[in-house]
Amino acid sequence: MAVFDVVILLFVVFGLAYIRVPIILWTGFIGVVLVLISLSGTLFFPFLALFWILFLAVAAFANLKQLRQKYFTIPLIEKLQKQMPSISETEREAIEAGNVWWEKDLFSGRPHWKKLLSMPSPKLSEEEQHFIDNQVETLCHMLNDWEILNNNHNLPDDVWQYLKNEKFFGLVIPKEYGGRGFSALAHSTMVVKIATRSISAAVNTMVPNSLGPGELLLHYGTDEQKKYYLPRLARGDDIPCFALTSPEAGSDAGSIIDKGIVCRGQYEGKEILGIRLTWDKRYITLAPVATVLGIAFRLYDPDNFLNKGKEDLGITLCLVPTSHPGVEIGNRHYPLHLAFMNGPTRGKDVFIPIEWIIGGVSNAGQGWKMLMECLSIGRSISLPALSTACAKLAFRMTGAYAQIRRQFNTEIANFEGVEEALGNIAGLTYLTESCRLFTVGAVDQNVKPSIASAIAKYHMTEMARKVIMHAMDVHAGHSIQIGPRNILATAHMAIPVSITVEGANILTRNLIIFGQGAIRCHPYLLQEIKLFSKPDSDEKMRSLDRILISHVGYLISNMVRTFWRGLTAGTLIFSPVRGPTARYYRQLSRMSSVLAFLSDVSILSLGGSLKRKERISARLGDILSQLYLASAVLKYFKDNDQPTSDLNYVRWCIEMSLYKMQVACNELLQNFPIKWMGKILHWIAFPYGTSYYKPNDDLHHKIVGTMINPSQFRDRLTDFCFISKDPNDPVRRLEVVLEQREEIEPLWNKFQEAIRKGILSRHASFAEQIDAADKLGVLNNAETRALRDFNSILKEVIKVNEFNFDLSAVIC
Ligand SMILES: Cc1cc2nc3c(=O)[nH]c(=O)nc-3n(C[C@H](O)[C@H](O)[C@H](O)COP(=O)(O)OP(=O)(O)OC[C@H]3O[C@@H](n4cnc5c(N)ncnc54)[C@H](O)[C@@H]3O)c2cc1C
Repeated sequence: MAVFDVVILLFVVFGLAYIRVPIILWTGFIGVVLVLISLSGTLFFPFLALFWILFLAVAAFANLKQLRQKYFTIPLIEKLQKQMPSISETEREAIEAGNVWWEKDLFSGRPHWKKLLSMPSPKLSEEEQHFIDNQVETLCHMLNDWEILNNNHNLPDDVWQYLKNEKFFGLVIPKEYGGRGFSALAHSTMVVKIATRSISAAVNTMVPNSLGPGELLLHYGTDEQKKYYLPRLARGDDIPCFALTSPEAGSDAGSIIDKGIVCRGQYEGKEILGIRLTWDKRYITLAPVATVLGIAFRLYDPDNFLNKGKEDLGITLCLVPTSHPGVEIGNRHYPLHLAFMNGPTRGKDVFIPIEWIIGGVSNAGQGWKMLMECLSIGRSISLPALSTACAKLAFRMTGAYAQIRRQFNTEIANFEGVEEALGNIAGLTYLTESCRLFTVGAVDQNVKPSIASAIAKYHMTEMARKVIMHAMDVHAGHSIQIGPRNILATAHMAIPVSITVEGANILTRNLIIFGQGAIRCHPYLLQEIKLFSKPDSDEKMRSLDRILISHVGYLISNMVRTFWRGLTAGTLIFSPVRGPTARYYRQLSRMSSVLAFLSDVSILSLGGSLKRKERISARLGDILSQLYLASAVLKYFKDNDQPTSDLNYVRWCIEMSLYKMQVACNELLQNFPIKWMGKILHWIAFPYGTSYYKPNDDLHHKIVGTMINPSQFRDRLTDFCFISKDPNDPVRRLEVVLEQREEIEPLWNKFQEAIRKGILSRHASFAEQIDAADKLGVLNNAETRALRDFNSILKEVIKVNEFNFDLSAVIC
């Protein structure tokens, strides 16, 4: 009976903490249970007394404000005040920019899966679909990437003109301003399709539609600026670029030294109020051909012309026509042999009217916030789309190649080693497509997903890097010899470029994802940081006391959840669905609790030093990111009506994500600065040790099976991968040879059987074997013809380019 009492008591204490009841109810319930136990008289008195003492101490601290403040909150505040990270103005603006979205649920320890599943599934409108099927298709046919990269080093004039005529640069500009008014999904899909044909063309096309003057004008421009510039941008009369990065300020772009001084000067024969602007920028995409230049600079107003009462007004953005006297553009950088436009721009003491500030004078000093908000939109679209394009192309082409390329008398897809590489390409392609659609879906729901976009940018570019490396390994020499026949080399060169732009990846992983994620998604942290930075007052103390006590309750609740869910291996957690994916919802909820718990312990125990402990922040960010990626996969599966063809892919992706979360936890806790605490935390999170494993060989084998043969699934996953109609195009050839291979399957098996039995020699070429089969009557005439056709196209597929001696001309 006594044991029963203790079990009931523990159940109430931990059960109520698990479901996060308010602290007053928690103590109330425990009090009632203790009274009942005391009345029943079954519990040994010393134990009962101990429970009462503990209870009264906790209840007093939790509910008696003055006592708590004196002995708990004030000492804690004094300790934390020294530890809390100090946040500069630019950091604060960056952290507060954009919205938090699904990441907040993942960070909370109890994601509302029904909310995820009821989010609208992204769909192209009829008009958008028509544009992709027609204008984008035509554009892709006009592009010859080899010529663009090696001979023109630019898009041909007719392509530039077509892009302008068909308003490719005005995709996201509303129709009222003459643009196409398309969704983020349409923009992303356009980038995917063009990038599978020519990455240089895709970059030239996506930049005006993403972070740049168009997006900034739409959100912050004055009516006059919108009316003047947006129609010009939509028609392609103006080509925009945006210049933030300078030689000294790269990742730390907030530290730019480019400056503008508010002053009076001459413009079009009149003396007006303006800015004397000096800048030195580099790496600027489209700068060499831009007609309108967006510039970020620090604005100073020493003579207080703008009546803002301070000299340094902060980062400000303006638009300057490149024809304006003093603007220097034209030189180019050469980003890893790609041919998109990228270069420096400079200007010294260039006088511009004050009205050229984006959004007018009222937006002077607001530039950093404006940039950060728009960054989350562009970052959700451009590089995720580019990465998905690389993955789709690699998936389709490598699967096909592995199925038709033979070594050791069998298709190379049959070798387990090759299968391992293929499986990784297959799974990661499914992940990138899911993540692309999930993230653009947020933008189309009018969210500016600041953390989700950082996760998508970082992980998708990294996944594309892995996919391309695996694809190169499978194609081997075929992918190394460059020339028009090489399908992968450009993607291989382009991936490091996409890794560097829009926030270089090391910084994004180590500083941004968790740094911004924790502060924005945590229910109390941002309020605490803001309160700590205020001068001491009674009001501050009262607010901090209230928030800190809730924070402690939240921490205890997450600890209880984490431990209980670990102890029961997540099996008792609610899942919003039944069937084979139910387990994954449960395990992801379990890991969401682990993230919430470990984040809080890290923040509370390391305080401000967490900002410097980037590897801790990176690993917590990895857990958040993997939860996000796995959610995207479940959403993609659901949006496609949960086809059985996808099940193994869903398994592969989520098992990989869970495994990576576990690795991140292990590395975090092994390297936790307080060693003993790391061990205890590990035991709480994983009471039985290892819980998750990488997808096994069998699962790998199954997903490769659907990758190497034509199927509806393969077509859906690689949707929008451009396949030329030209029979001499290397992508088209590989498609045709794979289809032929499938058509001749029975004949192929008969032919192979004759080789196995020794009727046909193993030591002859394929062509000689066909001749022998014909002579010996192994094949009839029609079969011989079919095999000869197959052989002739196969030879073309495995061929690589040859050049003349000085490499100036392709011979074949
Ligand atoms: C092809 C291309 C196109 C571009 N287009 C534009 C454009 O149109 N407009 C524009 O304004 N800019 C553009 N950029 C600039 C781009 O955004 C910057 O290159 C990028 O922000 C990184 O700056 P950096 O190259 O100077 O690297 P650095 O700042 O020198 O960084 C070097 C390394 O240190 C890491 N690092 C830096 N700080 C930290 C930290 N706190 N924690 C961890 N790691 C850190 C970085 O991740 C990186 O790996 C472009 C760049 C390229 C290459």
